[in-house]
Amino acid sequence: MSTEFNFHALKSAERLPSPSGTALTIMNLVQKDDTSVKQLAEAVKVDPALTSRILNFANSAAFGAHRPIANVNEAVQMMGMQAVRNFALSLSLVSNNRKGHCADFDYNTFWMKSLAMAVAIAALTARERTAAPEEAFTLGLLSEIGQLALATVWPDIFGECLRSAQGDTLIKLECERFAIDHKALTLMLMQDWGLPGLFLDALKLSFQPPQAEVTRTVRFASQLAFARQLSHYCVADDQYRAALLADVQKEAIPHNFTDETLSQFIDQINQQWQDWGKLINIKTDTRLAFPTTQAEQSDVLPGLDILLVDDDPLILVRLSKQLTHAGHHVAVCPDGEAALKHVLENKPQIIITDWRMQPMDGLALCRTLRSSAIGKNLYIIMLTAAETEDELVEAFDVGIDDYVTKPVNLKILLARIRAGQRITTLQQEVEREKQDIQRTNAELAVANRKLGIMANTDLLTDLPNRRYALARLAQEWESAQRYNRPISVLMLDLDHFKLVNDTLGHDAGDEVLSHTAKLLKAASRATDIACRLGGEEFLIIATNTDGKTAVLLAERIRIAIQTHQPNGLALKRPITVSIGVAGSIGNQPGWNELIKQADRALYVVKAGRRNATQLASEL
Ligand code: GH3
Ligand code: MG
Ligand code: MG
Repeated sequence: MSTEFNFHALKSAERLPSPSGTALTIMNLVQKDDTSVKQLAEAVKVDPALTSRILNFANSAAFGAHRPIANVNEAVQMMGMQAVRNFALSLSLVSNNRKGHCADFDYNTFWMKSLAMAVAIAALTARERTAAPEEAFTLGLLSEIGQLALATVWPDIFGECLRSAQGDTLIKLECERFAIDHKALTLMLMQDWGLPGLFLDALKLSFQPPQAEVTRTVRFASQLAFARQLSHYCVADDQYRAALLADVQKEAIPHNFTDETLSQFIDQINQQWQDWGKLINIKTDTRLAFPTTQAEQSDVLPGLDILLVDDDPLILVRLSKQLTHAGHHVAVCPDGEAALKHVLENKPQIIITDWRMQPMDGLALCRTLRSSAIGKNLYIIMLTAAETEDELVEAFDVGIDDYVTKPVNLKILLARIRAGQRITTLQQEVEREKQDIQRTNAELAVANRKLGIMANTDLLTDLPNRRYALARLAQEWESAQRYNRPISVLMLDLDHFKLVNDTLGHDAGDEVLSHTAKLLKAASRATDIACRLGGEEFLIIATNTDGKTAVLLAERIRIAIQTHQPNGLALKRPITVSIGVAGSIGNQPGWNELIKQADRALYVVKAGRRNATQLASEL
């Protein structure tokens, strides 16, 4: 089963993590052009916890030496409104999501890692200012937020993914189950929350291999990638840290660290991470132990399908026995020609071949294999006797991967086979990844298409929405002009609908809306376009229809709604609808005005007895 991913639906159903309270007020304030620092500071002060955190933040050593900042106004001034906004946003997300329903998702570890990332990227951008450290902090804190979102929206399915994922396969599983992965979802959420484009671009790049270009975005991305590595280091236990250190040191060089400055820097981040943890109630003392790698889980590599080619039957017998004993599956052939046939039929993983054979020797075998699709990725080891250096070079040029001298030392041969196995495994992984990427792309294309449809569809009723309705009307209007045909619109509004919500609740209200939508679709003709404008208001575009005919359609709909009441609802009064109709022939009055006329007609019905139809031209 795959769960269809729909960002807008999830968002409107309030199922995605979202900011609340003070944070929302602050986000709204910053969105307005004329908000002053003072106003923003006032909004912050309403929330004492946020106030103390912002003061702490502004005074944080990570952002360079400055005099102490004692009040919120100054803090807001110093940090900048955007930074305050994003900071409030991220803190509100932390406090709303300390716990959740996904049993396999460790919420504290998630925030613990995210906080380490936040502190690390803030400290890195303070050294080299690709972005304001105050803002980079927020980006760090939210840089994996897509995972939290998946855990929030689909606790069970995401839990399953977490349980069965190994290494990098989580992303793939997510794509299969949700048609989106947490990285893409992170970017979507950030975009929705209005984080700067530079941040989104850099975060996206930071998941990819390093770029050669030197732009601000690329530089910021490489800082993010390094911060991610530092955050892994922070959250690791001592044994795991020791294993990570060499990689961290290597990565640190392009960021202008020496081993000594790096060690100070790491101490600084570590300290800040723990301080911050205390300040915003995230435990940082539950370090993660060394993850066991796949190789450790199965330290014996699985046996390989090996083809052994030699014209000496004694060698064939001895080697095949030894290799079988070492756990491999071995087939034997006496010469190149027989070997080719075997390869075509059995697709072995490794070939070990003698050089001098009749009628086809090892070199010719290798050359033939390399020129065929099936033999291109085969791992070939040549057995050599008294060949010269030049001959060996020729063998490599023809395409052998490795060689072992005769008489064969079994230990050496097995070691060479293991080396070959690593390479063939890697090749297979690359191949699999390539296929995964292709599939992911296809799935994303599907998801995008679905999103496109969603953007034009009302989720509750499945009718086209307002945006679609207006665009379509403009288009139909044009074509009515071109062919000199009439066109009409019907503006519908349910009567006393609020009463349904007030007496039976919002869900009952929704039911009435879906029910009405079905009746609209059933009662209108194939060429009519029924849309939901919003609330309990609908629009029908009646093409090739003049006003008088549209009134007939309207009456049919009105009576259908009156006659077919929704089942199972203890309604205080029957559902009825008021309809305003406006029609036109020729280029007057324009589609905008047509809607206005229908609206005026509707208003007249509403002012009167309701449950009736009114044609605008008869007012
Ligand atoms: P009138 O006869 O004058 O049209 O009265 P009314 O109660 O139908 O109209 P009014 O505009 O006062 O109320 C419309 C109500 O519809 C208010 C709003 O809460 C509710 N509403 C809007 N969208 C939805 C929705 O998607 N679902 C539900 N259940 N109610 C909605
Ligand atoms: Mg209304
Ligand atoms: Mg109404």
